[in-house]
Order: sequence, then structure tokens, then C-alpha cells
Amino acid sequence: MKLSKLASEIAESPTFALNEEARLLRERGEAVINLGIGEPKNKTPISAVLASAAKLTSGEVKYTPPDGLPSMKKAVIRYTEENYDRLVAPENVSITNGAKQSLFNILYSILNPQDEVIVIAPYWVSYNEMIKMCMGIPVIVTPEDGTFTPGFEDIERAMTSSTRAIIVNSPNNPSGAIYPPELIEKIVNMCEKKGIFMICDDIYHKLTFDRNVAVPAYHFTKKDIEKSHIIVVNGVAKLYGMTGFRIGWVIAPRDLSRVMCNVLAQTTSCVSPVAQAAAEGALNGLQSVVEALRLQIQNNRDVLLQEMRTFNGVRLIEPAGTFYALPDIRAFSNHSVEVSKFLLKKAMVVTVPGKEFGMEGHIRISFAGLVKDVTEGIARIKWALDPTSPNEIYIGDKKMIRDWM
Ligand code: PMP
Repeated sequence: MKLSKLASEIAESPTFALNEEARLLRERGEAVINLGIGEPKNKTPISAVLASAAKLTSGEVKYTPPDGLPSMKKAVIRYTEENYDRLVAPENVSITNGAKQSLFNILYSILNPQDEVIVIAPYWVSYNEMIKMCMGIPVIVTPEDGTFTPGFEDIERAMTSSTRAIIVNSPNNPSGAIYPPELIEKIVNMCEKKGIFMICDDIYHKLTFDRNVAVPAYHFTKKDIEKSHIIVVNGVAKLYGMTGFRIGWVIAPRDLSRVMCNVLAQTTSCVSPVAQAAAEGALNGLQSVVEALRLQIQNNRDVLLQEMRTFNGVRLIEPAGTFYALPDIRAFSNHSVEVSKFLLKKAMVVTVPGKEFGMEGHIRISFAGLVKDVTEGIARIKWALDPTSPNEIYIGDKKMIRDWM
């Protein structure tokens, strides 16, 4: 069968593939713990449920404007003013089917074939594939010092005359790192000087721990939004745990928003008004739901750190935000794909190989779920990898003996 070369070369999403594998194992009755997917276990905020239910019962569920309902845009404008200290116009806002579609539309709307986009490792799995889908070239910058924060000089060195954009995801999936404000400031200045776009994937911006904060890029420019090269992506998936509603948004200069609106109109037409009503409900409702989720995730992170302390050989940089940790497992193996497969087979724990995020020798552990899954999941990983941990463990009601060390 003759298919598109470009589409055929797009990699499968490893997190969705692993999720499916976990689901099949669970269906077979196996006691699988999924530390793979980044999805909080909370219930949808009640304000979102009520708003979407009201929309549904009105029976008026029709097409909406391609770039979003005016009332949804209004909620995003208020959110942007409150959280970013920026007043933007409805013409600067595009509502999309998840932040994923926001990112794709931005890249599709700014790239010409062979244009380069700087991506900082470790990176979220979809950036590179999306850039390639838009005929661009991802240029990876990897921190040299074993941390998850890039040196500004390394970013500068990666710039060429073909660079069109840099994607900045802080708090970062998969490392949980928050880039220091000085770095963000330098990137803003560089982008404005050279006229390249700074795409800020802010999907985790409020999921930060202790005293850490992710300072928005907007804080470092005096330029009007129309002149600025900063593009902000956000959504309700992570902060409100509303992954299934598929609502994200972009804040961008009008010229870019106009092009993106046409792309949306010619591809997905619009976003379901039921989902938009839900997101509106979440943004206009009690914001204590976000803080409650943040506290629960922070507690999970603390439990994870405590469990990891007794994990011999593993090095972990403490996550300052998100719900991911990226331990260095090179004491056991350099091949993260093998390690993740081994952990699923022996310990029935889903993790994501660091290789997928451009960070070989690490595995990503999500602590978005239940605290008991974090505790038991880490205990099983230790049992599978660390010879100094107890030799016996229960997986479900099966007593297991480690016999491979
Ligand atoms: N950006 C990052 C860094 C993410 O981790 C995710 C979700 N895993 C997304 C974007 C996509 O979010 P959404 O579910 O709203 O499409």
C-alpha cells in the first residue's frame, strides 16, 4: 500500500502505546501499576460538570467560531490577566482541541519547509514529531552538565539563519525542572532581537512545589503583544485534571492568530461547545480546585522522594513542578527501553523510557496518580533493579522472588 512518506515516518506516541499495553494487561487480571501516563486521578471540577451539562441540556450544540466561543475567549482573557498580568484581545486568543492542537497549529502556521525549531532536551515526546509533520527540522539542545537546565550559550550556539522558533516547556515534562528566570529572560531577549518565536508551553505553569514558581516569559518584555514574539500555550488538561475534555488555547499576535484561525476552520472546524462550556466552567469556577490538586501532587512528589532515597545507585534531581520525575538509572543500564520493558515484565509497572524524551539512561515516572500506586510502584521498581532491596515482594496476591541477580 502506498502511503505518505512523511506521515509513515511519524513515530507512535510512546505514552499512549504503553497505556494501551497496561490496559490489556489489567484486562487479563494482572496487577499493573501505571506510572507512565501524566493524568491526575481527580474528578472533573463541579463547575465544569455543571456548565457542560447545562450546555448539553440546552440542546443547542452546534458549530462555534473556528477559534472559539466569545465567552470561552473571555474566560481565557481573564485567566491571562490574572496569571500573566497581560491584557489581551479576543483576536489574540485561539481555542483548540487540547494544547496538542495548539502546538501543532502554531508550528504549521509559522514554519516553511526546512525551517529549524530549537527543542531543549529532555523534551516532551510530541514536539519533534509535530515539527517534522510541518516539514521543519528539530534542533536539539542537551544540557551538558547532567542537569535538566540548558546553558544559554548552548541555545545560542544552536541558532542558525534557518531558526524560526524555540519551544520552552517550564515546568518541564519529563524532568519536572523549572528553568531559572534569568534563563527565560535571556531567551526572551534573544528571540526579540533575532525576530524568532518563543513558544512557551505553559501547560504545567501552576503545578509547582515548595517555593518554586515558573516566571512567565511575558514578564521580561515591554513589547506590546502584537510586536512580541512570545506565544503562550495553555489548557485545562493538567491544572484542572480535565484531560478528556480536550481544551487548550494559544495567546499570540493577531497576524498569527488569523492564520491559525483559517487552519482550524479548514481542519477541525471548531471545538465542541460542550467541551468549551466545561473549560469555561473550570476557569470561571472556584480556583481552589487547582490548589487542591497541586497539594495532592506535591504530597505524591514528597512520597516519591522519600521512597527513592533508599534506592541504591539511582540519582534523581528533585522535580520542582509537574508530576514527573526522571531518575538516572545508568547504574543498572544505559538502555532505557530495555529497562522499561523489564520493569513491565517483572514488576508490572509502566514507566516511559528516557530515550523517548532525548534523555537515554533515564526513565520517566509519573506521580500524577494515587499515592499508594507511587509507593507500591517504586517499591516494585526497587525490587526489580536494586539487589540490596528485599528479595521478596507481593505483586497483587502473588508472592514474587527475585531470582535474576
Ligand atoms: N504539552 C506538554 C508538555 C504535555 O505534557 C502535554 C500532555 N501530556 C501537552 C502539551 C498536551 O496537552 P493536551 O492534553 O491539552 O493536548
